[in-house]
This record gives sequence, C-alpha cells and structure tokens, in this order.
Amino acid sequence: MYCYQCEQTKDGVGCTEFGVCGKDPTTAALQDLLLYATNGIGAYAHRARQLGARDPMIDRFVIEALFTTITNVNFDPARLDALVAHAIELREQARELYEQASRSAGHEPEVLAGPASWQPAPTLDARLAQQSEISIDARKVRLGEDVVGLHELLTYGMKGAAAYADHALILGQEDEAIWAFFHEALSFLASEPTNIDALLSMCLRCGEVNLRIMELLDAANTGAYGSPRPTAVRIEPIAGKAILVSGHDLRDLEELLKQTEGTGINVYTHGEMLPAHGYPGLKRFAHLAGNYGGAWQDQQKEFDTFPGAILMTTNCIQKPRGGYLNRIFTSGLVAWPGVTHITNSDFKPVIEAALAEPGFSEDGASRTITVGFARDAVLGVADTVIQAVKDGAIRHFFLIGGCDGAKPGRNYYTDLAQLVPNDCVILTLACGKYRFNKLEFGEVAGIPRLLDIGQCNDAYSAIRIATALADAFDTDVNSLPLSLILSWYEQKAVVILLTLLHLGIRNIRLGPSLPAFVTSTVLNVLVETFGLAPITTPEEDLAAILS
Ligand code: SF4
Ligand code: SF4
Repeated sequence: MYCYQCEQTKDGVGCTEFGVCGKDPTTAALQDLLLYATNGIGAYAHRARQLGARDPMIDRFVIEALFTTITNVNFDPARLDALVAHAIELREQARELYEQASRSAGHEPEVLAGPASWQPAPTLDARLAQQSEISIDARKVRLGEDVVGLHELLTYGMKGAAAYADHALILGQEDEAIWAFFHEALSFLASEPTNIDALLSMCLRCGEVNLRIMELLDAANTGAYGSPRPTAVRIEPIAGKAILVSGHDLRDLEELLKQTEGTGINVYTHGEMLPAHGYPGLKRFAHLAGNYGGAWQDQQKEFDTFPGAILMTTNCIQKPRGGYLNRIFTSGLVAWPGVTHITNSDFKPVIEAALAEPGFSEDGASRTITVGFARDAVLGVADTVIQAVKDGAIRHFFLIGGCDGAKPGRNYYTDLAQLVPNDCVILTLACGKYRFNKLEFGEVAGIPRLLDIGQCNDAYSAIRIATALADAFDTDVNSLPLSLILSWYEQKAVVILLTLLHLGIRNIRLGPSLPAFVTSTVLNVLVETFGLAPITTPEEDLAAILS
C-alpha cells in the first residue's frame, strides 16, 4: 500500500505496510480502485452533462465514493469491494447516458480508455493485484512526484468538498454547478494531466467550488435548525442512561434525539458534534445533555469509560476497543468490520444498547463551555467589535482552528492560544479547539476572548465574519488585523485550505507538519504566491504576527 493523504502518515512520508490510522493494505487498495473507477464515471458523466444529460443517482454516488475514502471513515473491505462493483455499474450507466446524448446530437461518441474502460478482475486477489498498476508508487514512476502530488491534492480536495456536499444534500441543498465541477475534475484526472499550471488552477477551482458548497451547507444547517446562538454547554455528565454521538451529521443527531425523547436517556455530543448545542432546533431537546470528552483521537479511552451506547455518524472513527465493541454503532458512510451499522435512521439498536448499560450513577460538577459564535452571533455585535478595534481595545484577531490529531507537536496550538495577549480575540473552529476550549480566556471590550464558531465546515462562517469586518474597515481580508494559524489532519482541512487560497488569503500558517503530497516544487509556488508558511514556535510566530 501507499497512502499519504493525512497528516499522521508514517514518518511524514507515507504509510506503506499498514495505516497509522488502522487502515489495512486490502482496504487501502480497494479505496484506490474505488477512486479509479469513480474517475471513469466522471469521464463519461462530464461529457454527458456537456450535452445536457445527467443522472442524479450518478451525481450522488460520486460524492459518496469520494467521502467514503476520507481518513477514518470506512475501514470495511467488504463494503468497499461492493462499492467498486457498484461504481463499475454506474460507470456503464454514465457511458450509455453519454453515448445516447452524443448520438442524439449527431456526433459519434468518443472511445475512452484508462479508468473509463477498466474492468475489475473476477476475484478479490486479482483485483488487489490490479491496484499495483494505478498505485501512487506506479504513477510516480510514470508521471513524476510533482504531478502525482498535484493529482492527489486535487483528489483530496474533492474528497473534502464531497463530504460537505453530502451533508448539504442530506438536508436537501444541492447545486447543479457543484455536480458539474466534480465530474469535470474527475474527468480531468482520468486523462492523467501533466501540466503543473493546469493542475494548480484546477486545485484552486476546487477551493472555489467548495466555498459554494460550504455556503449551501450553512444554508442547510441554519435552514433546518436555525442560526447558532451562544450557548453554555455542560461538559460533565448527569446521572442516568446515556448515548454519545460523534461526527458531523446533524440530521442523525436530530433523529436520535426524537427517538430517545421520553426514554430517560440523555444524549451527549463528542468531538465535532459539540457545535450542535448552538442550534435552536437541536437545543430545544431537553435531553441533549452536554458534551463528553474531547477530540476524535481521544475516543478509545473516552468511549471505554462512557457507560452507554456510542454512535459514530461520520469521521473520525478509530479501531474500536473490545470494551465498547458491542455498544458502538456507525451510520451514514462510516464503517468498521463487525460494528453494527444503522440504516434508515432506525436507532433502536443504539437505544437498546444504552438501556442495557449502567449509565452515569451521579451528576458531575456543573462546568460549562460556550459555543455558538457563528456568523450571525458575531456579526450581531459587529458595531461593538469595530469600535473596540478603532479604539485600540482589540489589537488583533487570531483564527486558531482546524483538525486535532494524535501526533506530538499539536501542543503548539494550546501554547499559542495561551500566549495570545489579553487585548486580542481568538476565533476557533473544528476539533483542533479541544486543545484549549476548556481554558479560561475572559473577555475583551465586553465580548468573550474565545469565540467558538463551530465545526470545520463553519469555516464559511469565519470567512463571512472576516469579509464583513474587511467591508466595515473599507479594506480587504489580508489587510485586517487577523492571522490564520491552522492545524490540519485530513482531507476536509485540505479543501478548506484550497478555499482560503482561492480567496487570495495570504500568510496562513499551517501545522503541525506540511502535507507529504505537497512536493518542494509545489510548496515553493504556494509560498511565493500565497505566503503560506509552516508554524515555528508559538513565541516566534506570535512575535512575527504582532510586530
Ligand atoms: S489515511 Fe493517513 S494514516 Fe491512514 S493510511 Fe492514509 S496516510 Fe496513513
Ligand atoms: S475537524 Fe477534521 S479531524 Fe476533526 S473530527 Fe472533523 S474531520 Fe475529523
């Protein structure tokens, strides 16, 4: 196997024998084959769409296939092998769609090669052998490291964008331009492009399209559950039966809250589900009791001690320990072999497992943290903020956000947040915030110094806040007293970075290490064009930012 799509990749280079995340070589190979077949779907679907023909089933499959291969989503080779077979069926449907549309338009259809004509071998072993021809290693030999790195940057960007598009679609929001882009970009990759400028340009377009996707997801979330409001969230349990919900899928959480009403079960959020407490449509459930634990990488020890059932709605799942294997469940695209998967939002098995467990025997202390500082909440106090900046009461804004992770070096973000001077505001989002969100930061100019904007997709809210402030000061985002210090782990963070670069945002600091798939040639372009920089030490970065 060869996988270098996430930040924890082995030795910062690549996982070659087994994934640091727990992905085995069979799962890795099947993910590669699924992506290859999906490129083939894109080759036909893109051409069909240009001739006015589309199939919503194909549109949906493409984003699910991409999302399925994100880090910590699907570790089940049986499900992935079935998806490869389904991808080939849909590719043939896309081919027919294209050929019919082409003939109707009076053209002889193109005959496409590569992923558009690939046929999976009849046995699993033979299919796994086929993967060696399309692996990253094989392509590096054929196309060179820079080109393959950019192919992967685009693929990972699309994976992240697909995750957000899937969440938006679940809540009824979609846009034809988004489907068109996915198919165009997959078709582009199917042609094995080698032009560095064209590849970089497509990566930035991916960032541009992701901005629209995050806008749609924002509309989906706020349309379904209202605009987040500042909300104090309990971080200690209360006595009683309990279910813990992790991941990013608000619809699953809502369904579970409905199905547990009146059962006496308290529902807790974990990881990226924490921001759910800020939505009026979710916090109306009195048994949404609080948040338990921290970011995803702490799940094995936290789930072990949680005395109830656990539901993983999207990434990030880690190998379940035996202590909770019989009371953890997956939904949506998440899968782990042997873990019960919930379909059709029927959470009865989760509820039964929670009732069979002891639950919490007593109340914990009454400690809370505050969430819900999304764009409406922050812009609601924009006049106060703007005046405070003009008066010099607020000196600088730090956006310290992104993914958390297990590797050493992420204490940088805790240390930096603690070193930020008292006359500065810290904006945060995504699970990286668990590095410091239980610390006390106090207030500045009458507003909290730490503002939790939400999940990683709420980067859209952060962008809206930044552009509104820039408008108020009659300048651009790069001229604001605002610095972005981001932590990345997986592919959703990759696409958010592409979105920020598409917007022309400069001087982003990125850590804890730079992506292994970004070669020195590509990094030089990003440094020269956008001023992208690796983090150094909290003291050094802080001094440079405030100088
Ligand atoms: S997803 Fe990350 S940890 Fe898992 S195999 Fe790939 S690079 Fe390694
Ligand atoms: S922010 Fe990234 S790493 Fe954290 S839970 Fe979400 S997807 Fe996973």
